[in-house]
Amino acid sequence: MDENDWVDELVTNYAKGARDEFLARWKVWPIDLQNPGPSEVTIGLLHRQYILAVNIVGNPGTWSIDIAPILLRSMVEVYIWLSWILVAPVERSMKFIDDGLGKEKLVIKHRTDEIEAMGLNPEDDWMLNVSKAWIEDHRYSFLIDVNLSGSWSGLDMRKMAEEADCRDFYRFTYPSFSSTVHSTWNHVGKVDLIPCQNPLHGGHRVPREEAIPLSVDFPLLAAKYLDKTFALLDKQLNLSIDVESTFERLFVEREEEASNEA
Ligand SMILES: [Zn+2]
Repeated sequence: MDENDWVDELVTNYAKGARDEFLARWKVWPIDLQNPGPSEVTIGLLHRQYILAVNIVGNPGTWSIDIAPILLRSMVEVYIWLSWILVAPVERSMKFIDDGLGKEKLVIKHRTDEIEAMGLNPEDDWMLNVSKAWIEDHRYSFLIDVNLSGSWSGLDMRKMAEEADCRDFYRFTYPSFSSTVHSTWNHVGKVDLIPCQNPLHGGHRVPREEAIPLSVDFPLLAAKYLDKTFALLDKQLNLSIDVESTFERLFVEREEEASNEA
């Protein structure tokens, strides 16, 4: 299979394979109807991970250092959060939910202020109505505190990764992806700018005019992170899954073929 056929194969078939893998897990997901929080949080985060992977792999326009790290950092975050939550699912899922509800309450407050300032009636705003209905759908919404201190877990990512035994995964990915997310100088200076070619100008930096080339390393990472997340959940939740890994089929086997040919 040449490179173009393979890219077509990824764009066309990855999503279907990933969907089968996701649904196979959902079918056997452990749910406690008395306390559904932990299963909602874990399957919700797994769904998020699956959607991110499918959108990266299926959209070659995202396969550049300008864009892919923004999405990949979200995937790293989801993986570390799941790892950390699964150490004490009941208590930590609750923290995650409470924090999210508090954040949504704040969103509602700011949106209400904005609508009133425009001289409109907040009760007519569909976004506000969706947010309010979602909050009221939680049985304990009267308990919600608004947490202004930042992290829902009370820990930063590095600390969470350490506690969840994925320090290296964190260290090898998160700081470099963060530079793209936040457009810090070690992204902008390296990616958006290039050295001026005029020998009389002393090597100052000028904007890059050519588009950054796409790289299949990015869909590979996205598929790998989803695969890693499936493996984490299979292990921690004791799931036995009989669906082949799309990552293995579309990426690992291809690399093996390529190295055999070489
Ligand atoms: Zn110059």
